[in-house]
Amino acid sequence: MSDTLFAKIVRREIPADIVYEDAEVLAFRDLNPQAPVHVLFIPKRAISTLDAARGEDALLLGKLTLAAASYARAQGFSEQGYRCVINCNADGGQTVYHLHLHLLAGRSMHWPPG
Ligand code: 5GP
Repeated sequence: MSDTLFAKIVRREIPADIVYEDAEVLAFRDLNPQAPVHVLFIPKRAISTLDAARGEDALLLGKLTLAAASYARAQGFSEQGYRCVINCNADGGQTVYHLHLHLLAGRSMHWPPG
């Protein structure tokens, strides 16, 4: 389960436009952006889906979420607003099975997303 595209990005085996990194989190621009800003935040330690996350992953998931919020604040679009999304499994629209948080910004978002 750990050998996804995103695990390869963590290991620098395939290129990515990395915008943030710390000891546990990596963030890079989505290859197929759905908004002017579309960044994927991933834990370096792979968790396949949100459904697979457990209590011991709570701190890591908190760090992942706060990394996205800090990035938004640092980039100056937090006041304007943004959206964070975690797709889970097939009906949730998940296509890469290494948990990731989408940060979308730079345009007005609609709800429900469809
Ligand atoms: P999901 O559908 O699993 O929630 O999101 C996967 C996201 O990964 C999609 O938005 C897709 O565009 C992006 N993606 C897929 N392959 C790559 C890749 O090789 N590099 C980057 N940067 N993004 C990718």
